[in-house]
Amino acid sequence: MMKLFGKKSSELKQKTHEEIICPNCLSKNTTRISVLGIYNHIFQIPFISGGKYGASVCTNCHHTFELPKMPMAIKLAYYELKETAKTPIWFYSGLIGVKVVVLVKIFSRYF
Ligand SMILES: [Zn+2]
Repeated sequence: MMKLFGKKSSELKQKTHEEIICPNCLSKNTTRISVLGIYNHIFQIPFISGGKYGASVCTNCHHTFELPKMPMAIKLAYYELKETAKTPIWFYSGLIGVKVVVLVKIFSRYF
């Protein structure tokens, strides 16, 4: 059955950080940090933004970290990257659609 409501995520920005050493394999310049945007959808249409989330992966050993478990150095780099990652407007497609419909209804009374 198709879920009517739910959450999905989309990668907003990613960067391989030169200075970070992977705590697992001790390689430098292999940690890829991603900023993920979460959106709530209704009938598969993105409706409203649900905030941002982070993850990192080492391109050498494939060790991954989710935001709460990130070592401090990676976490700091994530927050830096997050500052530059914008929430895309299409996260609000549903909300914008509803507003347009409401506006059209209001205007159609007067014109
Ligand atoms: Zn590694």
